[in-house]
Amino acid sequence: MGMLDNKKGVIFGVANERSLAWGIAQTLHNEGMELAFTYAGEAFESRVKPLAESIGSKIILPCDVTDDNQINSVFETLKKEWGGLDGIVHSLAFAKTEELKGEFLNTTREGFKLALDVSAYSLVALVKAAIPLMEGRDSCIVTLSYYGSEKVISNYNVMGVAKAALETCVRYLAVDLGPKKVRINTISAGPVKTLAAMGISGFKGILDMVEAKSPLKRNVTPEDVAKTALYLLSPLSSGVTGEIIHVDAGYNIMGI
Ligand code: NAD
Repeated sequence: MGMLDNKKGVIFGVANERSLAWGIAQTLHNEGMELAFTYAGEAFESRVKPLAESIGSKIILPCDVTDDNQINSVFETLKKEWGGLDGIVHSLAFAKTEELKGEFLNTTREGFKLALDVSAYSLVALVKAAIPLMEGRDSCIVTLSYYGSEKVISNYNVMGVAKAALETCVRYLAVDLGPKKVRINTISAGPVKTLAAMGISGFKGILDMVEAKSPLKRNVTPEDVAKTALYLLSPLSSGVTGEIIHVDAGYNIMGI
């Protein structure tokens, strides 16, 4: 018996087998959750499809989160196929590579809007469309953030601002969703070498720093992140909402 038997969830943010979303999906699947997947544009379809099919998923849909029509279409399909929904994993973010190096001062208006739209507002847009399927069934939403929302991390720049917005969206959403019996939480993950992470200038230096300075003296793995996602998407976390859980080998507690 799995912890999530008979539960249904949708995963936003698989790009390839290294994606944090893919680690989470495998863990949820192993606990019995039936999963649907989305991909951002045709280029990712050929990567996401085989992964999704390898764990028996039948619903694999396009969804660029800047497009409300695509978002609505995902939840219309899920309503038709499943009737309701127990979990959402929001594991996506985007900023232009040129915004992820050098001085934050050089952030453009266009770059700021794009990063905040894809990386923070998208959560609100997804939740808005999903609520009719989720309310009243003790369902859960999990999103992914990073410590660059709290402290200045070189080159993280506008993405740090977007993650701060994302974490605040989670707190405000938690208040609206609570009475509807829907919980929402954030995992603040330590650095993991993924496609998105490789877009951050000097990322290798961040990995080295965490390994040297964190209490656990190592970097986290996608499995570490996935196990906390399982906790947050399962009844084990029934009293937890609006929270940020750091899965970062303890790095965030360190001072001098
Ligand atoms: P990833 O590149 O595997 O995943 C990022 C995903 O964002 C991709 O699937 C991509 O298709 C999706 N995406 C980008 N623009 C989109 C759009 N317009 N519409 C829909 N999807 C879009 O990298 P990842 O590291 O697994 O990132 C997942 C999440 O984890 C992100 O929110 C990231 O900020 C966060 N995170 C990553 C790390 C890390 O070090 N890897 C640490 C903390 C938090």
